[in-house]
Amino acid sequence: TITDIIPKELIDEIRSFINNYNKILITTHLSPDGDALGASLALYHYLFRRGKDVKLIVPNSFPYFLKWMKGTENVLVYEYNPEVGQHLIMNAELIFCLDFNVPKRIGKMASFVTASNAKKILIDHHPYPENSCDVVISYPEISSTSELIFRLLYQAGEYEYIDKDIAECIYCGMMTDTGGFTYNSNDPEIFEIISLLLRKQIDKDAIYSNVYHNYTEERFRLLGFTLLKRMKIYIDIHSALIYLSKEDQQRYKSKKGDTEGFVNYPLSIRGIVFSAFIYEDDNYIKLSFRSQGNFACNEFAAEFFQGGGHLNAAGGEFYGTLEEAIVLFETGLKKYELKLKSASR
Ligand code: 5GP
Ligand code: MN
Repeated sequence: TITDIIPKELIDEIRSFINNYNKILITTHLSPDGDALGASLALYHYLFRRGKDVKLIVPNSFPYFLKWMKGTENVLVYEYNPEVGQHLIMNAELIFCLDFNVPKRIGKMASFVTASNAKKILIDHHPYPENSCDVVISYPEISSTSELIFRLLYQAGEYEYIDKDIAECIYCGMMTDTGGFTYNSNDPEIFEIISLLLRKQIDKDAIYSNVYHNYTEERFRLLGFTLLKRMKIYIDIHSALIYLSKEDQQRYKSKKGDTEGFVNYPLSIRGIVFSAFIYEDDNYIKLSFRSQGNFACNEFAAEFFQGGGHLNAAGGEFYGTLEEAIVLFETGLKKYELKLKSASR
């Protein structure tokens, strides 16, 4: 059985918003991942089938290994066409904010969404949501926003309207936010939901393969280079760092999305509980953090890199050189030395 975790009043409120408004906009966070896009597309398909004038807009582009999901060709990328994006935001009657907790996470769209007079519904699983939406569905203990979309539709009595396309998108988000059900995924109800999705004829093995066994040769060699030449291990404090300069990326013809998931690999090393990836982007340095067990990545990201996220997966940013970012990271490690030494998987 699937527990009714979302209060009935909120379900009713969302239902009446959907019934009363026609122009609906869905948006999600910067560098959309499988969960951001999966949750957004699932809701998009549902609203489209309900006859709504629905649009999905993302702040910037998403990786190639998510393009197999139905509807990705209809996703608007704000960065490519901000005027159209602003027009859509200003004219929307109802805006769904999915998989992010603070406006800043949608980048340059933030001020327009905040200023919009549309009704707003937040559906998310990051801690500390900023409460500026009309309806807030926030469950940090739930491992993906896609699972929350399933729960919302299921609790609203709409299971029969979940078709194969919707089920695939939901499954993709649940799978990617749990690393293929290898972390944050001990809740038995996750597997009850998967069972209900399989009844919609999804091919979960094909979905796994589309997402994870889809490297280009260049990307796979870039991974090899990174692990061989750009990895530092701090074994006594159970930590690892991988990093890539702009020059490294150019040398190995790295494309958008190619380094997605790299940060997880050092956690395969015995004894490592904390892994970081520092990536030199066009005009800033992007950081990704992953941990196993009780070490709080989001705390570390917030303290040193203006970031946040979940206990075991977080990110942040740094303005300066790659070398300076590495120095600050190592300063952080020093400060967290005791916590890291006692951290357990
Ligand atoms: P990733 O490492 O895959 O980019 O992000 C991991 C998690 O951290 C995601 O849940 C994402 O929402 C969060 N995250 C990534 N970058 C940032 C950031 O710059 N700020 C905040 N607040 N969260 C981030
Ligand atoms: Mn998510």
